[in-house]
Amino acid sequence: MNFASTNGSNQKNGDESGDGSWVLGIDLGGTTIKFGLFRGDKLIWRNHLRTADFESLGSAFQSCRDSVEDTLKESSHSIEDLHAIGLAMAGVLDPKAEALAETANLHRWHHLNFRQQISDVFQKPVALLNDADAAALAEAAHGLCRANSLVLLTLGTGVGGGVILDGRPIRGANGCGGEIGHATIDFAADARMCGCGFPGHLEAYAGSAGVILTANDRLATSDAQSSLRNMQALTPLSIANAAADGDTIASEVIEQTGILIGRAIAMFAHVVDPDVVLLGGAMTFGGPGTDTGKQFLKSIREECFPRTLVQISSHLKIEFATLGNDAGIVGAAHYARQVADETSRPGTAIR
Ligand SMILES: [Zn+2]
Repeated sequence: MNFASTNGSNQKNGDESGDGSWVLGIDLGGTTIKFGLFRGDKLIWRNHLRTADFESLGSAFQSCRDSVEDTLKESSHSIEDLHAIGLAMAGVLDPKAEALAETANLHRWHHLNFRQQISDVFQKPVALLNDADAAALAEAAHGLCRANSLVLLTLGTGVGGGVILDGRPIRGANGCGGEIGHATIDFAADARMCGCGFPGHLEAYAGSAGVILTANDRLATSDAQSSLRNMQALTPLSIANAAADGDTIASEVIEQTGILIGRAIAMFAHVVDPDVVLLGGAMTFGGPGTDTGKQFLKSIREECFPRTLVQISSHLKIEFATLGNDAGIVGAAHYARQVADETSRPGTAIR
C-alpha cells in the first residue's frame, strides 16, 4: 500500500504513476462523506463533503461524481476508466434489501437502497459494507499488522466490530456478524442498559458514555482524591489526561475498561481464532504513543490471554490499529476490487 496520510480535503498524492485499475472508496458517515480515488492500491486523490450541504443523498453523490470526473480528466482519464465503487457506512446493513436496517446516527437514511442510489449516479458496480468491516479489511490488507484473519474493535461513542476471515469480511445472515459491541459481558440483574435497548452489552461499558459512567461510579464509591471530581464534564480524553498525570481513579477506570474488553476478546477469540485483534477508533486513551494507551492495551492482554486456550494465546497479537481516518475509504476501495474481481470470474454468481 502506498497512500499518503494527509489531513485536509481535496488533497492529491503527488505521484500518479502505477499500474492497476481505478477504484473509488466512499466512507459515508453522519456528517461527512469521505471519498478516495485509488489506482491499484495507491490513493491518488481524496476529498470530503458535508452531508448537511445537500438536499438529498443523490445530490451529494452527484457532487462526488463531478469531483471524481474532474480528477480523472486531469490525469487524462475519464469516468469510463472507473472500475468499481466501494461504499462503507455505519450501522447494520440489511444484506437482502441493501439498506440500513439499524444505526444510531443515520436514521434519516433508513431503508434507502444505497447501491441503487450510487449506481444511478455513477453507472458502475457498487459493493456495500459496514464501516467497521471496511476498516478491518483495510488493516488486514494494508495496516502494520497485516493478517488473513483479523478482528478490529472500533472504540468511540459506540463499540463497532469488523471480522476478516481468510481475507474477507463476514457479516452473517442478517448483517450483524461482527457486532461485538452488542455481545453480553454482564449478566447481573442490574447490568447497565446498552443504547440498543438490551442490558449488559460491551458497548454499555466500553463505549465513551459507558467509560464516563464507570468513572462516576468509582468517584461515588471511593474516598480517594481525584482531579476528576473537579471536572464539570468528564470525557474519555479527560480521564486519559488525568491518568497520565497520576490520577489513580482515572487509571482504574482505564484498567477496568481494558479488563472488560479483554474478556470480550477472550470469548470471540474461541469463535474466530484470529491472527490479530486490533483496537481502533477515537477512544484508545492516547493509543500507542502514550503510557496510558500502553497501560490500556496491557490490561486487555493480561485479562484476555489467561482466559484463552494456549494455542490461541501463544499466537494472538492484540495491538492498536494503524490506518486512522483513512481506513474507511481504503477498505471500501479494497472491497470493491475484491468483489469486482470475484464476480468477473467465469461461472461466479453475481452477489
Ligand atoms: Zn447493545
